[in-house]
This record gives sequence, C-alpha cells and structure tokens, in this order.
Amino acid sequence: MSGKVLLVDDSQQARLAIKDALKDVFTTFIEADDGLSAIKAFVEEKPGFIITDIEMPSINGYRFISTVRNMEDGRDIPIVMLSGTKNSLKKKLTGFNLGASDFLIKPFEDEELVARVKSLLSIRKLIDELKEKNALLEKLAVTDELTGLYNRRHFFEVVREQMALGVRHNFKIACLLMDLDHFKKINDTFGHIAGDDVLKKVGSLLNACRREGELLARFGGEEFVMCLFNTDSGSALLAAERFRKLIATHEFISPLYPPLHATVSIGLAIYPQGEILTIDELLRKADDALYKSKLDGRNRVSMYEWELTSAPAIPEVPDGEIG
Ligand code: GH3
Ligand code: MG
Ligand code: MG
Ligand code: MG
Repeated sequence: MSGKVLLVDDSQQARLAIKDALKDVFTTFIEADDGLSAIKAFVEEKPGFIITDIEMPSINGYRFISTVRNMEDGRDIPIVMLSGTKNSLKKKLTGFNLGASDFLIKPFEDEELVARVKSLLSIRKLIDELKEKNALLEKLAVTDELTGLYNRRHFFEVVREQMALGVRHNFKIACLLMDLDHFKKINDTFGHIAGDDVLKKVGSLLNACRREGELLARFGGEEFVMCLFNTDSGSALLAAERFRKLIATHEFISPLYPPLHATVSIGLAIYPQGEILTIDELLRKADDALYKSKLDGRNRVSMYEWELTSAPAIPEVPDGEIG
C-alpha cells in the first residue's frame, strides 16, 4: 500500500468511483472538487500521487497541473489526468505537455486505472532510490573517509569559488594549514590504528570549534586545512591560536592508548597579498609558514607576510609530548 493520493474532480460520483477502484492501492484519499482547493490540499497535505479531472469550474485540471509542476514538491509527483471527453487527442497532448504522467478516459475500467497507477508508483520508487543513491554518492565524493570531514578536492572547489567572489566583493581569505607534530611517534609507539583514532578526534575537535562559514578539510595524512572567509590577519591569527590551543590542551583518551597529548603546528597565509593570487600560491605560502612553525619549535602559529613572522605560543605541553 502506498501513501496519500489527492483526488481532484468536481463530480463526487467520479471521486467515489476512483476511491473504490484504488482502495487497495492507497492508504489515504484527500479530495478536492476544483483546481483551487486542490492546490491548497496539495500544499497542506503533501500527497505522493495526484489523479485529476480536466473539466472543472474556476481553475481547471490544466492550470492545476502546471501550478503543481512549477512547485518544488510537485516536480516529480505522478499525475494521472482524467477526461470525460471521448475524442480527446488534443486534451491528451495538452495534458502531457503540461507535465501529466498519464491520461485516462472516463468511465474507465478499474483494472486499467489500478495497473497504470501501480506502474507509475513503481517508477516513482525507482526515482526515489536513484535520488537517494545520488545524494549518497555526492556526499562520498566530498568526504574524507577516515575523519568524515570534507576532502581535499572539495576544499579546492569551494576555495576557488570563494576566491572569485572575494575578488568581486573585495574580501580576504585566510588559509590555515595545520600539521600534527611528531605524529609518526604516535604511530610508532601505539600503532597505526591508535594514530587513526587520534586523527579522527583531532578532526572532530576542530570541527566542533569551527565557526559558521569556516571551511575545514582533511588536507591529507596528518594535515588539516581551514579557510576563513571575509577576514583579516588579526582575526585569522586569533582563530589559528584558538585551534592550536584547542588541540594542545586536549587529553586524548581511548582504550587503544594511555591518555596522551598532541600538538599541531600551523601556517597561515592570506589571499590576496603580494604574490598570493592563486589557490596554489596561497597553500604554498601557508606551507612556508607551517615549515617556519616547525623550525621554531612546533606547537605554534606562523603567518606568512612579506617577511615571515612567527607568533610564538606559550606551550601548554612540551614539544611533541605523547604521554
Ligand atoms: P612533524 O612534526 O615534522 O610533522 O613530524 P611528523 O612525524 O608528524 O611528520 P612526518 O611527515 O615524518 O610523518 C607523518 C606521519 O603521519 C607518518 C604517517 O604514517 C602518519 N600518517 C599519515 N596519514 C596517516 C593516517 O591516515 N593514519 C595514521 N595512523 N597515520 C598517518
Ligand atoms: Mg469535471
Ligand atoms: Mg605532514
Ligand atoms: Mg606532522
């Protein structure tokens, strides 16, 4: 049994006949006796199927169908049109042009109506399954498997779009490249699965601390990347410091390893600035700044400016401590 069907016909007798024919197909019948009340019922009741007469007072079946097809919820709904006119090729064609899914002449054989409705319902089911699979595929295409964050490819796509917008609206984009410090040691000491667990947790921590509009992705390996849009270097530095501290002060707890601490080094660069006119250059300069953070002792934030400067952090934990 399928869900709700909307029956639209100005003849109560016709509605009764349809209901009777389809009593084993649908669970709920919503009725309307003209196009206007049918539109109202469609919006309020959200049926999954429509059967509509053509000849009706005020708003007729044609106008009803074209109204439904122009609505977001009505684009894919199966609609069967009914007409009492015997020689109705022109009506049929008009109905199909407006988006009707099928057409039947009244009076109809019950078996034929049931067969046509069932066939439309099975097509509808296939479409729904396809849509679900597509949505899943779309999600998978932009998601990093381990952390559930956006992947690198999606990151590039969004940042490129935002760069074009940034040029037009004159806003800056800050890019934070974060790399876990001495992560190899965690793998070597507690195993790769433990390392995976720490990576997942770092991803969740960053994601939870991320503000609306900040784009976070796993850049690869033990590196994460974040972009802040419409920002300036002062706010970006504060944000980077917030993320650095978040990780440094967190105690990672799991049955896979004894309670441990981890730190990240962060490199920050701002677009547009100096040579930074492309996404590749933005990432390269953020990577230069990250390299400086590593050289300066890790667990800190460095920002690429014309001349590289380092903002040393007061470490909460000694460099690379993992116990
Ligand atoms: P540094 O502070 O210089 O960044 O030291 P590091 O040990 O973090 O850097 P290095 O580049 O030497 O090693 C990165 C390590 O990250 C080695 C690699 O096995 C580990 N790694 C990368 N991706 C994954 C992953 O998906 N899971 C796990 N468990 N480890 C990973
Ligand atoms: Mg009628
Ligand atoms: Mg690395
Ligand atoms: Mg590292």
